[in-house]
Amino acid sequence: MAKIQMKTPLVEMDGDEMTRIIWKMIKDILLYPYVDLKTEYYDLGLEHRNETDDKVTFESAEATKKYGVAVKCATITPNADRMSEYNLKEMWKSPNGTIRAILDGTVFRTPILVKGITPFIPTWTKPITIARHAYGDVYKNTEMQVPAGAKCEIVCTDKNGNETRSLIHQFGGSAGIVQGLHNVDASIASFARSCFNFGLDTKQDVWFATKDTISKKYDHRFKDIFAEIYEKEYKEKFENAGITYFYTLIDDAVARVIRSEGGYIWACKNYDGDVMSDMVATAYGSLAMMTSVLVSPDGVYEYEAAHGTVQRHYYKHLKGEKTSTNSVATLFAWTGALKKRGELDALPELVHFAEKLEQATIQTIEEGVMTGDLALLSTLPNKKKVDTETFLQEINERLKALL
Ligand code: NAP
Ligand code: MG
Repeated sequence: MAKIQMKTPLVEMDGDEMTRIIWKMIKDILLYPYVDLKTEYYDLGLEHRNETDDKVTFESAEATKKYGVAVKCATITPNADRMSEYNLKEMWKSPNGTIRAILDGTVFRTPILVKGITPFIPTWTKPITIARHAYGDVYKNTEMQVPAGAKCEIVCTDKNGNETRSLIHQFGGSAGIVQGLHNVDASIASFARSCFNFGLDTKQDVWFATKDTISKKYDHRFKDIFAEIYEKEYKEKFENAGITYFYTLIDDAVARVIRSEGGYIWACKNYDGDVMSDMVATAYGSLAMMTSVLVSPDGVYEYEAAHGTVQRHYYKHLKGEKTSTNSVATLFAWTGALKKRGELDALPELVHFAEKLEQATIQTIEEGVMTGDLALLSTLPNKKKVDTETFLQEINERLKALL
């Protein structure tokens, strides 16, 4: 079979530890034999980030803006331990944070469902995609402990020096706490557009919820911005695509999500997204089966796995032991990026290849061949735990038959 030729490169962001090992295996076993892979390669491994004073991260994000599609390996976010382990010049920031800020994007996380691994909520037969607004609110707060008798106000000084004051609380005999939050309309609008675009892209309804009945100005602003943008820019497109935008209160949304069958995008404010994404990921079974895509409001896509670098497995690997690390989410980051590249470049053969690769992966697991994390969860009778590389080879055997 002739290799599939690509037109435009993908931005390839390599990463760290066990996922870096998997990254190379995926390319060697499942991509190079079939695709004349064109990538613009950026090494986001911690050593190279350190050597380049983290410039490589910024360059990779700029390249993503230029080419429109990136695929990223998991990377270490340095902490004190990593400072000494890698002899770092500085405690470099999280690459994901840097890339997200440059692309002004929203992260969408979607579970990969397979037979034999039943969600904790048995009615969830389709994936629920969580979109988390990743700016502001309690994550950029200012807070204080205040003494008894204190009077606390919000003071806003406009650019002409005019002050507006609003009482938070006149503290009585007890000391207490106060907190100041903010968000900006532009960020909420970007979030809304990313969610509506992703809904159109994946032909799924978009749900959004806040507590606007209690937070009549703050949360209400979120509700209004979503509604205005939807009416003006998306209503017609949604109707043509046969999908809907649905707004409700956050507590009502939670109740409906539990009763639902899945199959929609749930847009969440920052804190709701933090909490609900962990709940949803756990309920579907495994973090190693969760994909993640960063979508910018102007339609730039960066695909990755939701999990980290699987450090514990990497140390085993370094000692020469065989690991059974799940490569599915990383593999689906590649297929997601290849499909998107194929769509944008009008290369149906590339889209077709990526779809068959996904199909081969799911078929492998559903036929009982899986990594250790899934073997613990799967209810299939004849399941077989295989090592990291064997799993990819098993996928390849099925892929050959499908192509
Ligand atoms: P992690 O790499 O997600 O792994 C935590 C544990 O979850 C693993 O030890 C493993 O459990 C299980 N696990 C996760 N992915 C798996 C897979 N593909 N296959 C099998 N088991 C899997 O999280 P972490 O240990 O907290 O973080 C390690 C590093 O990753 C940190 O330096 C962190 O900064 C970085 N990180 C990066 C990203 C990103 O780039 N997007 C995200 C999160 C964390 P067992 O050990 O029990 O087998
Ligand atoms: Mg969380």
